[in-house]
Amino acid sequence: MKVVVGQGSCGVATGAKKTAAEFERQIADRHLDIKVDITGCVGTCYLEPIVDIYDDDGHMTRYVKVHPDKVEKIVEDHLVGNKAANEYAISDEDKQFVQKQQRVVLRNCGVINPEDIEEYISMNGYKAIEKVLSSMTPDEVIEEIKISGLRGRGGAGFPTWFKWNAAKQNSGDQKYLVCNADEGDPGAFMDRSVLEGDPHSLLEGMIIGGYAMGATQGVIYCRAEYPLAIKRLEIAMAQARERGFLGKNIFGSGFDFDIYIKAGAGAFVCGEETALIASLEGERGMPRLKPPFPAAKGFWQKPTDINNVETLANVPWIIYNGGRAFGAMGTEKSKGTKVFALAGKIKKGGLVEVPMGLTLKEVIFGIGGGIKNDRKFKAVQMGGPSGGCIPAELIDTPVTYEDINKTGAIVGSGGMIVMDEDTCMVDMARYFLNFTRDESCGKCNYCRIGTKRMLEILERITEGKGKDGDIELLEELAVKIKDGSMCGLGQTAPNPVLTTLKYFRNEYEDHIYNKK
Ligand code: SF4
Repeated sequence: MKVVVGQGSCGVATGAKKTAAEFERQIADRHLDIKVDITGCVGTCYLEPIVDIYDDDGHMTRYVKVHPDKVEKIVEDHLVGNKAANEYAISDEDKQFVQKQQRVVLRNCGVINPEDIEEYISMNGYKAIEKVLSSMTPDEVIEEIKISGLRGRGGAGFPTWFKWNAAKQNSGDQKYLVCNADEGDPGAFMDRSVLEGDPHSLLEGMIIGGYAMGATQGVIYCRAEYPLAIKRLEIAMAQARERGFLGKNIFGSGFDFDIYIKAGAGAFVCGEETALIASLEGERGMPRLKPPFPAAKGFWQKPTDINNVETLANVPWIIYNGGRAFGAMGTEKSKGTKVFALAGKIKKGGLVEVPMGLTLKEVIFGIGGGIKNDRKFKAVQMGGPSGGCIPAELIDTPVTYEDINKTGAIVGSGGMIVMDEDTCMVDMARYFLNFTRDESCGKCNYCRIGTKRMLEILERITEGKGKDGDIELLEELAVKIKDGSMCGLGQTAPNPVLTTLKYFRNEYEDHIYNKK
């Protein structure tokens, strides 16, 4: 028998460490020979702290919202009496939150102990890199990724095989594979969960990518605000080196690949490839003009590929199961699964992984349980500050790169902030513009000053001081900022304003003319 306490950041934030300590105390008091283990986030953050008890036959019972005061009853009933403490067990309805999903990236999150490489290995971990190094050429690896249809999960949705191939084609005495783990969108926590819950899948994906493009050095650029993720990555890297999966002569193949972590200082713009590279080189994180593209001249002017966490964590599964298996999920142009972070006014906030092509309604209502306090659904913000608002009348939109783009929003890295009928959409646009104004690196006039001017207008509108002509001024500035900005941050900064003007113009007018 084993007790497993979920200890991703969401679990820890709700007191999981105290819960685990209480289990240990009660087990020791009763002289039971039962181990208390840890795991990452299973996705149902709204039910934390979560405790899974595995019986000797492997049957698992999940207990939810287990604060220390519930531990004694669970220990007495389950660990001593061999009978589930049903009053604290997860409900059938909540079980469906996970059961309705299709988990590829999150396959091990909430299942294995992320600090124990043996548990990753027991789930076919490091089998994909073994397969690659024993029987595949770099071109065959890239072809398999091409067959899978995997596109970048960080926001742009660029075909992964193409980036890998471009880095492979460019010659250089040193090539780099950089993992962008600088997840900075408000409301997004997909990558953090993978890093905390299954760090080896990222490492294995990076080793495979390195082999495919001829890189021998990997770098994980991880935001410093993710200390638990960094700690678990460091543990995972040390264990992988000890087992010969990372470092020199991996699997005796002659292939060398190692990884180090660089903690980012919390600048949102460092999610942009060239700003990230500047930061890695010790410079201020400011975007650089492209071309040259990083695939030709990136980190230290060497060919460099940059992929995000979720993209790379898909790779071992794709290689192990075949690109066709991955491509069989999702739609023709948006293949595979995607992880979304459900946040805001939603009943069941957490992480969901679903095949692309499910509708927003299926995700928000079918899995997320609908709107808190049974209020009316008003809109969902997708793609964070670079994205836009999708109104209730478009709730049947399939979640694919193409269909979401048509609404004016973007899939982005997967953040979904749900809003109810009480949300002021002008205020929501103001919030996101305030964020991009703060995060502008200041290099381009339109981004630096234009976002400030737009924010001033939004502030006076929400304060009831809006003037005739403000809406037109917002629209004019939005176009100029988009056209006059060098990088994606500025080019997309007006999106929340433009989509709210498109779908909720009446709210702007109400504020200005009716002083609501
Ligand atoms: Fe910096 Fe904004 Fe210009 Fe991007 S668009 S380089 S964030 S000023």
